[in-house]
Amino acid sequence: MRSATATIDLAALQQNYSAIKKQAPNSKILAVLKANAYGHGLERIAKALPQADAFGVARIEEALALRADGIVKPIVLLEGFFTAQDLPILAVNNLQTIVHNEQQLAAIVNARLDEPLKVWLKVDTGMHRLGINPHQFESFYQQLLASKNVQDDIIIMSHLGCADDCADPATLQQLNTFTQLTAPLDIERSLSNSAGIWAWPACHYDWVRPGLMLYGVSPMINDVSNSTHNIMPVMTLQAGVIAIRAIKAGETVGYGSAWKSEIDTTIGVIAIGYGDGYPRHAPNGTPVLLNGRRVPLVGRVSMDMITVDLGQHSQDKVGDIATLWGQSLSVAEVAQYATTIPYELLCNISKRVTSRTK
Ligand SMILES: *Cc1c(COP(=O)(O)O)cnc(C)c1O
Repeated sequence: MRSATATIDLAALQQNYSAIKKQAPNSKILAVLKANAYGHGLERIAKALPQADAFGVARIEEALALRADGIVKPIVLLEGFFTAQDLPILAVNNLQTIVHNEQQLAAIVNARLDEPLKVWLKVDTGMHRLGINPHQFESFYQQLLASKNVQDDIIIMSHLGCADDCADPATLQQLNTFTQLTAPLDIERSLSNSAGIWAWPACHYDWVRPGLMLYGVSPMINDVSNSTHNIMPVMTLQAGVIAIRAIKAGETVGYGSAWKSEIDTTIGVIAIGYGDGYPRHAPNGTPVLLNGRRVPLVGRVSMDMITVDLGQHSQDKVGDIATLWGQSLSVAEVAQYATTIPYELLCNISKRVTSRTK
C-alpha cells in the first residue's frame, strides 16, 4: 500500500453524528454530503448514516447519484435548482429544493408538476451570498404557499457567514434578523452549519446542517485540535516511503532548490503529491507523521511526491507508511500550514487516491 490511500473510519463518522445529536438534541439533522461527502465518498457516507433525517447536496447530479444508488431519504439541493428544466427531475426523484431568488420562484409557480415540491425558503440575514432580502420574505412566502406546486410545510432557512469565530458579533446580528423575521410563524427553521452547532446553541432551531463536523474536523477558526467536542477524524490519509536518501550539508532538495540542508541528514521521499490532493503550497516544516514522530516537509511538493527531513539518525525504511493527516495530526493543522482551510484539503483528494473503509 505505497500509493496514497484514504482510510474512511465509519465508526468515527457514527461517533461524530452522535456528538452532533448530543449538542443539538432538539434538532433534526441534515447531513451535508456535497463535493463527494467532503472527499469521503458520497454513496458510502450516505449509506453509513441511516439515522440522518435528510441529506444535503449542492448539485442535482449529486442527488441523482444518491437516488441511483438506492438512497430514498429526503435530499435537499442546497443551492436550489439551476434551470426550470430541472423541476420535473426534482418532482420525479423526490428532491427538495431551496428557493433563494426570483427566477426560482417564477419557475416553480409557473411549472406544471405532477407532485408538489418540498421547498426551503432561504433568506439572507447578513452573509450577502444567497438568499432573498428580509423585506421580500412575506411576498415569497405567500406566493409559495399559494402555489399548487409547493407543499404546505415550507421550511425557512438562512446561512451563517462568521460562526467559526466566537468573537464575531455578526452571528448575533444574523440570529437577531432571523428570529425577528420568523418568530410570528409556526414553521420549521434552519440556521446552523457545523460552526453554528459547535458554538451557537441559540442558532440550532429545528434543523441543523452539519458538514465538516460530521467528518470529524473542528469548524472553528484556528482550531487545529483533534478529538475535541467528542469528534474524531473520519479520514486518515497515508502514503508509503519510496526512497531514503543521504544528503550532505549545503545540498538542496527538489524543484527550484527550494530547501537547503544545514547539516548532513537523511531525506525520505513519500509517494503523495498535489496530484493526489496534498496541498502544493504546504511549506517547509509542514508536519508529516512517520514511525511515531513528526517529521518536517522540506522542499517543494511535487505532483507525485513529497520530501521530508528524517534527521541524521533516521531508522526509517523504504516501505514505511507516513500519515499526512488523521489521528495525531489534524487536516486543520496541515491546512493552516498551507494557508487554506480543511474543507479545501478534504475536497481536493483526487480520484487517484485509493479510498477504503475501515
Ligand atoms: C455546505 C453547507 C453546510 C455545511 O457547512 P459546514 O461548515 O461544513 O458544516 C450547511 N449549510 C449549507 C447551506 C451549506 O451549503
